[in-house]
Formats: sequence, structure tokens, C-alpha cells
Amino acid sequence: MAEQTLPKKSLPKINPIDQPYWQGAAAGKLLLQKCKECGKLQFFPRPVCVDCFSGSLDWIEASGKGKIHTFTWVRVPRSPAFKEEAPICYINVVLDEGIIMESRLVGSGADKVKLGDRVRVAFQQTHNAEIKLPVFELAA
Ligand SMILES: [Zn+2]
Repeated sequence: MAEQTLPKKSLPKINPIDQPYWQGAAAGKLLLQKCKECGKLQFFPRPVCVDCFSGSLDWIEASGKGKIHTFTWVRVPRSPAFKEEAPICYINVVLDEGIIMESRLVGSGADKVKLGDRVRVAFQQTHNAEIKLPVFELAA
């Protein structure tokens, strides 16, 4: 009888717009877009500034620090590939730069997470050596 294998986890499909973001993540840096015209920061990566529609965008490294805005527990992942990781703490983080990101909370103490808890970014390996996923851990 054939051994049962879990389906492979899906990974981001990198495009020219978000390529710098993923290159930064692979190097352990959390990058945000910054508009050269109006100075606004934005996430996720887009071809233009969401505020003034300028296509003149730069990349800056975020502090990687923030706080839990909200969270939920995923006990039954939609993809069976994530079944063994459940329950997954799915979080909404407000970075110190004011940007909201969705991610996961991992590491010790995650089971006791509360609204407002301080977190810091970490980068999770995937089965593709060129892609690391930004996740968060509770800050000590
Ligand atoms: Zn702008």
C-alpha cells in the first residue's frame, strides 16, 4: 500500500511588483513600499501609491516590530497541507510604522496571545529556498 503523503503547501507566486519584497524576506528583512512623492508607506506591494497614484516608489526596511491588532485560531485549515500545523494562530498586526499586515503568530507563548501584545517579525523557511515567509513571535 502506498504511503499517504500530504499535499505540498502553496507558496506565493512572485511577480515583478513584489519581487523586492520577497528578496528582502529571503534575506531576513521586512520591506515596505514608500512613495517618493507623498511619503506614504504601503503594504502589500503595488505598482502605484494608493494615496497619490504615483508610480515612483521606493523600498524601506521596517523595524519588524508591532502589536497584535486582532487574531483568530484556525483549527481546520482549508488546505490539508496545513493540517499538521493546526491550530494556527492567524494574526492581524499593526507595525510600528502604522502598516497593517496579516500573518501567523508562532513560537512560545502563542497559545496565550492577547490583543495588544507586542510582536516581532521572524522568517519561516519553506520548501523553496528562495522563499521565506514573514511570521511573528511574541516580543520578550
Ligand atoms: Zn504617494
